[in-house]
Amino acid sequence: MNVPLLDLRAQHRAIGDRIIPRVLALAESQQFILGRAVEELEVEIARLSHARFGVGVASGTDALLLSLKALDLRPGDEVITSPFTFFASAGAIHNAGARPVFVDIESDTYTIAPAAVQAAMTPRTRAIVPIHLFGQMAALERLLPLAEARGVALVEDACQAIGAERLVAGKRRRAGELGRASAFSFFPTKNLGGWGDAGLVVTSDQRMAERVRKLRTHGGAKMYHHDEVGTNSRLDALQATVLLAKLPHLAEWSAARRANAAWYAAALSGLAAVRPPVTDPANEHIFHQYVIEAERRDALQAHLEAKGIGTGIYYPVPLHLQPCFAHLGYRAGAFPVAEAAAGRVLALPVYPELSEAQKEHVVSAIREF
Ligand SMILES: *Cc1c(COP(=O)(O)O)cnc(C)c1O
Repeated sequence: MNVPLLDLRAQHRAIGDRIIPRVLALAESQQFILGRAVEELEVEIARLSHARFGVGVASGTDALLLSLKALDLRPGDEVITSPFTFFASAGAIHNAGARPVFVDIESDTYTIAPAAVQAAMTPRTRAIVPIHLFGQMAALERLLPLAEARGVALVEDACQAIGAERLVAGKRRRAGELGRASAFSFFPTKNLGGWGDAGLVVTSDQRMAERVRKLRTHGGAKMYHHDEVGTNSRLDALQATVLLAKLPHLAEWSAARRANAAWYAAALSGLAAVRPPVTDPANEHIFHQYVIEAERRDALQAHLEAKGIGTGIYYPVPLHLQPCFAHLGYRAGAFPVAEAAAGRVLALPVYPELSEAQKEHVVSAIREF
């Protein structure tokens, strides 16, 4: 039996007939850049994230980059983030003109450790970028007071956490609700994925929204008048059309992912060779990835592959050890929790369309191992 890590064709078989007519209508209109669908998506994603404004951009990477550019960072400015994340989180900091400052993560949730953030803050710190990794949110109730006390911005990397929630100071808050700005990605493999690259910034700060809106169209609020140098990073109307058709299914998909995760947790409990993922009780996890840990991870991955089961390693090399960041001067051993995780994590298939038989196959292969 084959169990791919993700099966987007299964999703398309289920709902493709609700997408295609909208795409054909867009083809008839020949209105491909920004426009109604993009505006509608901006409103819908802002509403979903309990934020006031949404600004569609070309990718999740650009959502981070333009949010950070709007902070007017200067050479030598520092932005604190996690070394255990997709490259874009730190790449965007570099490309926005600042220096990424890495700090270690929590061993249970893989999110940035607030005590480490506090210890890393200096007079040059301008922002904190927590990553809501694998679908559960970072400890914003501890990070926000740190940011506020120093007057630095908190920019959420919510690319893996659309619709996730966390209990923050007694209230349920959504990913994207509390940051100065927050980045979403609609890369096809994300929980809400387009038919190509797409991303979106949400914010409740009107000046931030206007600034990102300008930056995505070459720095001009008015066509051919440029207050500053921005770039071309517009959300494509085709992507917005596809995403609007998929959006009504997101809640049921996240629920199905949670149900699959609960099923795995029960089935894997008592197996000493693997540690199922840990959900912080404050979090409503959306399980973008279902990530177990195993001492003999590479052997387990090979065993599962031989049984037709797709897995993924997110992420094999922490960012402080990437050659492109060698100039930052970090050494192996600097962030033991992140480095240990990189050697142990393994993502299992958790997508909503997984069948009972497929899940059984995954678990029996792990038991056999
Ligand atoms: C996917 C992702 C991004 C970047 O999104 P793209 O749309 O691929 O540019 C950034 N950060 C994290 C944590 C991601 O998972």
